[in-house]
Amino acid sequence: MKNLIKKLTETSSPSGYESAIREVIRAEISSLSTNIKVDALGNLIVTMGKKTDKGLRIMIAAHMDEIGVIVSHVEKNGLVRFSNLGTILPQYLVGSRVVFLNGVRGVINQDRPDDLHKIMTQDKHFIDVGAASDKDCPLKIGDVGVFDRGFVELGKRVSAKSLDDRVSCAVMIEVMKTIKNSPHELAFVFSTQEEVQSKGATTAAYEIEPDLAIALDVTPSLDIVGVKMQVDLGKGPAIKVRDVGMLSDPRMVRWMEETAKKNNIAYQLEVLDIGTTDAKVMQISKAGMPTGALSIPCRYVHSPSEVLDMDDVQATVTLLTALLNSPVSLE
Ligand SMILES: [Zn+2]
Repeated sequence: MKNLIKKLTETSSPSGYESAIREVIRAEISSLSTNIKVDALGNLIVTMGKKTDKGLRIMIAAHMDEIGVIVSHVEKNGLVRFSNLGTILPQYLVGSRVVFLNGVRGVINQDRPDDLHKIMTQDKHFIDVGAASDKDCPLKIGDVGVFDRGFVELGKRVSAKSLDDRVSCAVMIEVMKTIKNSPHELAFVFSTQEEVQSKGATTAAYEIEPDLAIALDVTPSLDIVGVKMQVDLGKGPAIKVRDVGMLSDPRMVRWMEETAKKNNIAYQLEVLDIGTTDAKVMQISKAGMPTGALSIPCRYVHSPSEVLDMDDVQATVTLLTALLNSPVSLE
């Protein structure tokens, strides 16, 4: 599992440019189903099983895009100004490295601040690619890049860029490998452009028309700073009750909790004040559907060095497998 997460997080594929990660994932899952397709927005959709009279059509989505940078302007002195693909947090920029899809690497720094201890806004930052002028700058407007940071193990925890949401892609691959005899028709969607308002999941849900939907994503674990959101690393997957974009169907929350209890899987409940997931758009696709989400606790989300606990990853695999292996009764 760690090797798979390493492989997925070390692939560069920001929102809208998912072809590299899609091919890495496709190589992992190509033997698992004969029904694999890529739609117009680049979603990789893998269907397994047939709907039985005890079963439903269930869509499970994990987004394969990651946050990134996009060149907006090249200064005369060769320094590169940039905009964001998804939410880039200024406090993580100075000293970060980025790699562009054309292979160019650069380091990020900021304009001279009045106050050395102040975090400046994103537009006051630039990328230095080693160019002496705009003439010899190897980047042009519209080139895209991602954080350049390798995967490392920290005891039973791991750190990498883009654990949001490649860890859920790894969970989904693992579940696809182990699931047997599900009564459901399962549509696993590796979705695109989640970081820019869940565009891929929007069209995929419209096409698939599921009876029920589950999103897999990370959620910020703020267990280090003692703020009001209470999701801790190492205490199991969080069953989403609410985030900024969605109220989970309470019947889904109950079903997930009961399944976790029945299988002795540690879990937490999530009420999130910042951000949302693909579940937001699946819930209101066409005539709508019961929707919920499992969130893997993650520290420093959207930084180049996100951190999560492998026990939570394993427990998420176990819980999702248990949810998909039995008939669903929502009460
Ligand atoms: Zn995410």
